Amino acid sequence: MSLPNLTVVDDEADLAELVCDIAEEAGFNACKYSDAELFKREFSHSADVIVLDLMMPGVDGIEVIRFLAERQCSALLVLMSGFDVGVLHSAQQLAAEQGLNLVKSINKPFRPDELEQLLRELPVADISNSQHREVFVPTITELRKALHNDELTVYFQPKVSISADHYYAVEALARWIHPEKGMMSPALFIPLAEENQLIDELTWVIFRKAMECCHGWHLRGVEIKVALNMSALTLRDLELPEKMAKLAQEYGITPSQIVLEITESSLMLELIKSLDILTRFRIKGFSLSIDDFGTGYSSLLHLYRAPFSEMKIDQSFVTNMANDTEAHTIVETIISLAHNLKMYTVAEGVETEECYQLLCKLGCDQVQGYLLAKPMPEKELIDWFSKKISR
Ligand code: C2E
Ligand code: CA
Ligand code: CA
Repeated sequence: MSLPNLTVVDDEADLAELVCDIAEEAGFNACKYSDAELFKREFSHSADVIVLDLMMPGVDGIEVIRFLAERQCSALLVLMSGFDVGVLHSAQQLAAEQGLNLVKSINKPFRPDELEQLLRELPVADISNSQHREVFVPTITELRKALHNDELTVYFQPKVSISADHYYAVEALARWIHPEKGMMSPALFIPLAEENQLIDELTWVIFRKAMECCHGWHLRGVEIKVALNMSALTLRDLELPEKMAKLAQEYGITPSQIVLEITESSLMLELIKSLDILTRFRIKGFSLSIDDFGTGYSSLLHLYRAPFSEMKIDQSFVTNMANDTEAHTIVETIISLAHNLKMYTVAEGVETEECYQLLCKLGCDQVQGYLLAKPMPEKELIDWFSKKISR
């Protein structure tokens, strides 16, 4: 198998040379450009990884980012910069928004072993595989058929309480088990359902299945609080709180056992109507969680007016908090804001022990993430909880 190709673009020739040496050590076939104009002129899609310095005389890194985006470059992009993290973040944002495959960034000066480790951890095998693998994109007709054939199911991911051991909670996540393609992620079919007026039907199918499981646990003497995801579009039906209360009652479940997760951006659509619906949910005893908090540009006024009981900190901050001081500050600030507003905090995307410990220190109430458990079918869940109790 041939080695993956890595190209370094940095005006400091010595540094470019050093990066090349380290890359070769890490198993790459490396080449360097200390002239960004020359890099642009000679650009071909041969590089699997591009290591780009943000600050160069003449052409700056942001121009190169724009150039790569225009060429629809699919290489993994690593940014290097001697600027403060704020500039690096903005550049990352720009690269991501233009569809580039930005994977890492590194501050200058860096230690050689630090860069070598970063390069070794790059998912190069994934990109070469994904370039060859065909992604199955379902059509709305197929999704309708799937609903009709009962191919949709619910997985559950534990939400673990930091403060109280005895408290069980899960988030219900939709899955489509396609007879030929296997398991499909909601990212492939939730937006499709939303665009084709199928989201309400899908939501009720998932809610009903989740309630069925909840009822089953109840019969076995296990009380588990269940979080359900609700699309912004569903939040326009004024009868929603009544319908939900009826569904819960049908399965003998008290509303206090149910948390409805709503993304921050949902509130932006029709504020008055959503406030009406949300308030009636609370009056009926349901808990409300504001999902992906920190990404939806909601104003403090929305937070003040909407009756949320829980705040879910977006994974983009949580995942980075151990090695990014700004992400850490944002998580810390969200936790303190939530607590001051008497709201419960949940951090999602907890993947490492280090991150978990930091969240404990910051007083976060609940955590969810691959470190604790991935989403799983309901039959594995009781086992998971009983193992956790016996530990
Ligand atoms: P979400 O509500 O933010 O759900 C959390 C997502 O993060 C889930 O992805 C979960 O599997 C994933 N996750 C959990 N822990 C970790 C971790 O440690 N690391 C990483 N990298 N990811 C983690 P999933 O199941 O693919 O769902 C994606 C999104 O699809 C959900 O994001 C939610 O917005 C939507 N969705 C899922 N089920 C439903 C549903 O029944 N109704 C609606 N309207 N939307 C749903
Ligand atoms: Ca959620
Ligand atoms: Ca979320």
